[in-house]
Amino acid sequence: MAIIAVFNQKGGVGKTTTALNLLAGIAQRGQRPVGIDLDPQGHLSHVFGTQPRAADDTVYGFFARQRPLADIARVSRSGVVICPAHMELAKLDAMLGKGFNVVTRLRHALRAPDAVGGPVVIDCCPLLNVLSLNAVFACDLIVVPVSADYLAVQGAKEVERALNALEPVFKQRLPRRYVITRFDMRRKMSAEVVAEMARSFRPEEICVTRIRENVKLAESPAEGLDVFRHAPESRGARDYEALLDELVGAGFLR
Ligand code: ADP
Ligand code: MG
Repeated sequence: MAIIAVFNQKGGVGKTTTALNLLAGIAQRGQRPVGIDLDPQGHLSHVFGTQPRAADDTVYGFFARQRPLADIARVSRSGVVICPAHMELAKLDAMLGKGFNVVTRLRHALRAPDAVGGPVVIDCCPLLNVLSLNAVFACDLIVVPVSADYLAVQGAKEVERALNALEPVFKQRLPRRYVITRFDMRRKMSAEVVAEMARSFRPEEICVTRIRENVKLAESPAEGLDVFRHAPESRGARDYEALLDELVGAGFLR
């Protein structure tokens, strides 16, 4: 089973857009994916129409009250299983600390013999906090969206440093893929970002697929939809389809 964490310490780079459309694309291919929303802002949960009022009915309950993931999981209208977020998640850092048992809790739940079978996509918040560490420890692949602007590349370099610093714990290089998002060929900045990425990261860890700037991708969440439902013929749909193909080709997904 594939577990993908979508992470970047910078906000607004396309993490939620990427998590949403990877989940939707996987569902379209006939599997039943599980989305886990680890951002207290709960944008992913909101798009899927699953935002419970009680914190205990969300991943907060999983971390703070030891509730099984199966208890908090909801099935969205589009057939994606989603473990929703809650604002209270922001308190978990102070409550739980960052001990090894704490940061491996999600890993144990997702890898238990009775765990959900489908591919898992985790939408992280823009901080390397206890929740993001749980995602990093749980996953087989970290997808790092990098929007085509200068600050996003700086954010991605911080991710690279943070992941490398964790390597002694894992005793292996954590599998990762950097994905350029909001790419616009007409903008000089986009070409500069591509060049800077090529200088800064391992070439095999930069996705060939680039997610282009596309208004349909920005519009669809407001309708409670992923891009495949909102605008199946759009560039946004084609690009996320290509990203899925690339991840399948690399052996991260079936
Ligand atoms: P994050 O989760 O990293 O904070 P989001 O996925 O919420 O980032 O994206 C930030 C903003 O950029 C949102 O308004 C989203 O609709 C928009 N956006 C993301 N990707 C694209 C894209 N490829 N084209 C146009 N707008 C995009
Ligand atoms: Mg987000």
